[in-house]
Amino acid sequence: MSSVPPAIADAYDAERFRREGHALVDVLADALARMHRREGRVLPWREPAEARDAWAAEGWGAEARAEGGDGPRALADDMARVVAASTALHSPRYLGHQVAPALPTAALAELVSALCNQGTGVFEMGPAAAPIELAVIQWMCARAGYAGGGGALTSGGSLGNLTALLAMRQVKAAVWERGTERQLAVITSSDAHYSVARAVRVMGWGDAGVITVPVDREHRLRAADVEKAIDERVIGIVAAGGSTATGAFDPLDEIADLAERRGLWLHVDAAHGGGALLSAQHRSKLSGIARADSIVWDAHKLMMMPALVTAVLFKDEAHAYEAFAQQASYLFAGGAPRDTWWDLGQRTLECTKRMMSIELWAALRQHGEVWFGNVVDRLFELTRVLADKIVSSGDFELALPPEANIVCYRLRGADNRALREACVRDGRFYIVGTQLDGSYWLRSTVMNPLTEPADFDALLEHLRSLCRK
Ligand SMILES: *Cc1c(COP(=O)(O)O)cnc(C)c1O
Repeated sequence: MSSVPPAIADAYDAERFRREGHALVDVLADALARMHRREGRVLPWREPAEARDAWAAEGWGAEARAEGGDGPRALADDMARVVAASTALHSPRYLGHQVAPALPTAALAELVSALCNQGTGVFEMGPAAAPIELAVIQWMCARAGYAGGGGALTSGGSLGNLTALLAMRQVKAAVWERGTERQLAVITSSDAHYSVARAVRVMGWGDAGVITVPVDREHRLRAADVEKAIDERVIGIVAAGGSTATGAFDPLDEIADLAERRGLWLHVDAAHGGGALLSAQHRSKLSGIARADSIVWDAHKLMMMPALVTAVLFKDEAHAYEAFAQQASYLFAGGAPRDTWWDLGQRTLECTKRMMSIELWAALRQHGEVWFGNVVDRLFELTRVLADKIVSSGDFELALPPEANIVCYRLRGADNRALREACVRDGRFYIVGTQLDGSYWLRSTVMNPLTEPADFDALLEHLRSLCRK
């Protein structure tokens, strides 16, 4: 057997990594500074087919390798092009979907996850990652008011909702081994995130498995309306701790009263709003959340983490093992799952998983918990400022007063769908749209704490000028 071929050794060379890493961090820091200065486009729009063809035309394989690592195809140069062609979430003029401008500390911590590749599914493959994840989960449980709670981190709120609903199904209907013929259903609001209805379809309950109750004028799910919809199929209620479309918080206490009275599982989808638990000013919006059986909380939304870091929390820690009540002898030690609580793969659909917890853990250690609450306060306050500007503008109208960092609005007398399209193609701001009460509204989520009120004036003026064209 010959020694390690030079190309293989070179790819793993520690000094090469150091060189490429320093150059790459410089590229990213420069890009961050440009975005903060509001230079360039928020969305460097290209027609999808044009973008596909352009990236497909890039050379790779042998031809790309021929130059070697520090040649014209250096990693930092390639990555600079990727960043330049990407949506600039760190621009204070990014006012679109609810994805955070990733906290730089957390992005750096993610590099450790990528390099160390600790699977976390079994303790032996993540002897630091697993206990850190458990510590982060305990901290999140404490903030949610779960004294005996537990859970795990998983890949996104959509998978989180599925995981929580699988646990609900197992606890309420014990289907894991025998399956069931019984038609089961959950009740949720007409504003629920689509992942709730999707999870129900994944579980095989079909259309009859989701009972949708209309929201009230403030876009909240009310217990009295839920109660009217309960029938023999129903085993649980899914409420929103900050809805996707409007950021409205369902009244969790009254829904928890109902769930307790009728013996139903209560799941709170706080994917968006969970971070508000860290704000002394806003946590009361989630009052009652501690009474839910399960909670989903995305840290990549109000907690500024890189996607994806989602917590699925259960009031009763034992329920964390119900979603996937399965034995895998080659991985897990066998016996009751709780006896090997350190093997976190028993709690998630993922077997191998990124070290999601270290991003959050590192950020909490570097910036402190209060920092996170302050970010939430600032985002919510900025959103109120934007709403006030919309109301006082005269030519824009507001759909409803924002409770969180999401605001829906439109320019009176304009084709707002076409206006958004024009805004996307122009690229200097990024906003999205939503359907509310049967009509189309522009929608902005204020995700960047570096946004200033003057950015909102510029946005409204920009939309007016696009409309005039
Ligand atoms: C964003 C969101 C989801 C989906 O979360 P992902 O992490 O994008 O999968 C689910 N529910 C609500 C209320 C959300 O806002």
